[in-house]
Amino acid sequence: AIQVRELTKSFGGGRSLFGKARHEVKAVKSVSLDLMRGETLAVVGESGSGKSTLARMLVGLETPTSGSMLIGGKDADALRREGPRAFGKTVQYVFQDPVASLNPRKTISSILETPLKLLCGYEAPRRRERMNELLDAVQMPANTLSRYPHEFSGGQAQRIAIARALAAEAEILVFDEPVSALDVGVQAQVLLLLSDLKTRFDLSYLFISHDLAVVEAICDRVAVMYFGEIVELAPAARLFADPEHAYTRRLVASAP
Ligand code: ATP
Ligand code: MG
Repeated sequence: AIQVRELTKSFGGGRSLFGKARHEVKAVKSVSLDLMRGETLAVVGESGSGKSTLARMLVGLETPTSGSMLIGGKDADALRREGPRAFGKTVQYVFQDPVASLNPRKTISSILETPLKLLCGYEAPRRRERMNELLDAVQMPANTLSRYPHEFSGGQAQRIAIARALAAEAEILVFDEPVSALDVGVQAQVLLLLSDLKTRFDLSYLFISHDLAVVEAICDRVAVMYFGEIVELAPAARLFADPEHAYTRRLVASAP
């Protein structure tokens, strides 16, 4: 579903207005990975290791410095040329802070309507129908539609953000720490919902998390990032039982 080859992203570099050399940060260094159809692939690694930068490139929010990406079988450059909506039809994302990701001035109905209209091209009656189906899929009541994001708890708002991601009918979802901001009990409910949705809608997940217990519970394979590079990529069971790279060993040993 996703093929990434030697993807690199640098920030800064070059020269400032006054000719002073700018410090360059290589956030992602020559990363290659495949997200296979129907799998959940985790990306783990410490803060600043480049996980979010990788995720942002995969969903078209950041342009790689070099390397190539096939997203849903399409070249990312071709998707970019097709226009701002081409990425969204193929890959959707859910980030850490649900409240920040939902426009506070829009009702949930209008938030869900945008992708149904712009990405799926549905007419009003079909949009209504889809909105109710989506709320049902994320287990939120129908009266959610007329309300505003601030009226919901973190867990409820994340369900709404998930519904919005599903609305686009993309087969790939990228999650960047989707439950990190939630209470542990709520985390478990949202994770259960994610595995339910995955089978129900035949989705592929790229799942970024620093919580190894969560990763072990829901992921098929795990990629370990360390200073911008993937140092190990293996089936979850193998990686946790027998980590190969020194950093992975430290990571697994330090998990509670
Ligand atoms: P965390 O676990 O804290 O979310 P992360 O693994 O997601 O960390 P990134 O956010 O991808 O890490 O950051 C990787 C590196 O790139 C960091 O050194 C960060 O400071 C740098 N970086 C990220 N975005 C930018 C940006 N827009 N401009 C400059 N540097 C950036
Ligand atoms: Mg991050």
